Amino acid sequence: MSEKPEKLIDKKGIRLDGRKADELRPLKLEVGVLSNADGSAYIEHGKNKILVGVFGPREMHPKHLSQTDRMVLRCRYHMAPFSVQERKSPAPSRREVELSKVIREALEPSVFVDLYPRAGIDVFVEVLQADGGTRCAAITAASLAIADAGIPLRDLVVGCAAGKVDDTVVLDLYDAEDKLGVADVPVAIMPNLNAVTLLQMDGILTPAEFETAVSMAIDGCKKIYAMQKEALRTKYMTVKEEAEE
Ligand code: ADP
Repeated sequence: MSEKPEKLIDKKGIRLDGRKADELRPLKLEVGVLSNADGSAYIEHGKNKILVGVFGPREMHPKHLSQTDRMVLRCRYHMAPFSVQERKSPAPSRREVELSKVIREALEPSVFVDLYPRAGIDVFVEVLQADGGTRCAAITAASLAIADAGIPLRDLVVGCAAGKVDDTVVLDLYDAEDKLGVADVPVAIMPNLNAVTLLQMDGILTPAEFETAVSMAIDGCKKIYAMQKEALRTKYMTVKEEAEE
């Protein structure tokens, strides 16, 4: 990475990528992009590009991992070797193992797992391009892909981070802000249920800054939630119109 610029936010409160403190990066969401998966979604969140494929509910392999009273949700977060500037080793990293776990735990409360005893669903997250905040963008896309697979959900799960850059609390950090900033707080919520399913913090914040960051991230999630629902509507309204023709 190049040297840290003196200021990541100018006197007018504008960040290096031109955004205001409480502004999201541009987003694009698409549902049903893979014909060989039961459900799929693609997200562009700023420069992040992430594809998610979901398989199931289906018989668990290996069988001994199945549960007699519930469905098992498995998740694999993987970064393509070309997803970051310096080639990432294709071998699974500790970070990918950790992110697979936190993404699974963020999604699981939304799924009615007791409807499918002994079955499993697999969620494959492929990060094609990474620019900070991939765990949150992956959760947003994975929840859409699970919905696209027709799996009953309590609500969609949506992720967004906030954090501290220089001395300001800002929404939706990109890679340089994540690495050169003071703190990062990724959050995922089920907006209709007022439930938080992911809350992490990397860095140092005062209690007041932490509260501001969490409420800013929740506001960001709510904006993305509207786009998630629109992406589902776009796919299924088109399918319905085609069926009616
Ligand atoms: P998140 O992507 O959820 O913010 P991290 O905070 O761990 O997760 O990573 C921040 C960013 O650092 C990633 O989005 C990516 O842009 C970059 N990054 C992660 N792993 C690597 C790597 N192996 N090489 C280069 N950059 C990486």
